[in-house]
Amino acid sequence: MDAEIIVLGAGFAGLSAADALTRAGRRVLLIEARDRVGGRTRTEHYGDDLWLDLGGQWLGPGQTHMYALAARFGKTVWPMHVAGQNVLLVNRRRRTYRGLIPWRVSPWALANIAWGFLRLEQLARRVSLDAPWKTPGAADLDGQTMGDWMRRNLHSRVAFNVLRVAVESVFAAHPDDISLLHALFYLHSGGGLASLTSSRNGAQQDRVTGGLQGLAGALAADLEEQQVPLLLSQPVQVVEQTGNRVRVHTSAARYEAARVICALPPVLAAAVDFRPGQPVARQRWCEQLTPGRVIKCFAVYDRPFWREQGLSGAAVGDLPPVHVAFDATPPGSQRGVLMAFIEGRAAHQWGLASMAERQRVVTASLGRFFGPRAQQPLQYLDHVWADEIWSRGCYAGVAGPGLLSRYGESMRVPHGRVHWAGTETASHWNGYVEGAVRSGLRAADEVLQLVR
Ligand SMILES: Cc1cc2nc3c(=O)[nH]c(=O)nc-3n(C[C@H](O)[C@H](O)[C@H](O)COP(=O)(O)OP(=O)(O)OC[C@H]3O[C@@H](n4cnc5c(N)ncnc54)[C@H](O)[C@@H]3O)c2cc1C
Repeated sequence: MDAEIIVLGAGFAGLSAADALTRAGRRVLLIEARDRVGGRTRTEHYGDDLWLDLGGQWLGPGQTHMYALAARFGKTVWPMHVAGQNVLLVNRRRRTYRGLIPWRVSPWALANIAWGFLRLEQLARRVSLDAPWKTPGAADLDGQTMGDWMRRNLHSRVAFNVLRVAVESVFAAHPDDISLLHALFYLHSGGGLASLTSSRNGAQQDRVTGGLQGLAGALAADLEEQQVPLLLSQPVQVVEQTGNRVRVHTSAARYEAARVICALPPVLAAAVDFRPGQPVARQRWCEQLTPGRVIKCFAVYDRPFWREQGLSGAAVGDLPPVHVAFDATPPGSQRGVLMAFIEGRAAHQWGLASMAERQRVVTASLGRFFGPRAQQPLQYLDHVWADEIWSRGCYAGVAGPGLLSRYGESMRVPHGRVHWAGTETASHWNGYVEGAVRSGLRAADEVLQLVR
């Protein structure tokens, strides 16, 4: 089966690229390793009124392409429940607060937190979105970690812990594992630290009824209606360029086209046998851009009991393994759902434990946030993203020191007839579903300029 353009990977990046090319009248073939579309988004349904987004779930202001997709497919977008007090548990003291900044800490800690947020916003705004490696002082910023910056600049222990939790919840990685240049680029790309950590007016504001994967499913169904072959359960193994053709070998067959868009996560693109091989700089960028680590945990209750106590269901804490929790109750559900993340280094450790062991520690954390009732869910489940062989982690690739300034420039440069998409290649909303869509549209546009 041949096509003009073959798209590899049916996450939001690949689906958006295939959609744009098809709408431009091109013959496209879409190849996916999993038996489903949506990649790092995955929605599971439990009975009539309970569904959970095990992967990506939120949309927020500025994510224009995602809201447009939701509107195109008639999906309702609704704001996550945020009414009530949030819980802050630092240095073993539990406080409640409203909004983004926990006002009820000491004036010294509060000033340090506010200064840390503001300073990071200022530094981030100076980083080039299209070419972070060209930012003045890039080598210096890339030679240190986010953790180095925090130790130098945050002198209050409470402020340090609050910022550490904020950083871990944005990157799913420990601050000592993140290059400062990468961190600043990523923050700028998503509108700043306040935007990325906020529920109201931020990246955690809205959800899509029925789950985010449903939007990927709608895009796929639309492609199938346009007669675009969508080949599932076919991991791509070899991409071979000969003359003016590209051959793609999967576990099942061989396909040919004039151009390929590779929309795989970099860590998985590194495992594909490109012939000739990817340029060394890009191969290294793919290999070394380590996926973050997240275990997404859900505790289901007979009703959202925390709301009756005036709590929003949002919590931040510095005790392991759960540092953040949210109300994930679907609209119209009789049940109440609390969602908790185990992130970064803790996810390495707890990913090796059994689900029963994780249930014990996660519900203990929820109990510290929301009281003893939180320790007795009707149902507990979680999802370890590092165990998904076609993702290997999430939310996205995280660059350690040196990577971006050494190899970053190669990330979007086409390799002959192979073009690159995927959220990790996005200038705006890098790491987010919005970034995935934008990267797919950018790669499709690149190809359309060439294939006339
Ligand atoms: C737990 C979790 C929470 C998140 N929360 C949010 C959120 O709230 N908001 C947000 O915007 N983002 C969130 N994200 C991130 C978001 O889901 C990703 O940025 C986005 O889905 C990435 O899309 P993509 O198309 O670039 O990559 P992917 O979704 O990874 O798609 C790549 C596709 O390539 C396929 N593939 C891999 N290897 C091969 C191969 N060899 N051959 C063929 N196919 C292959 C994969 O199966 C996959 O379908 C979250 C992610 C996770 C996991």
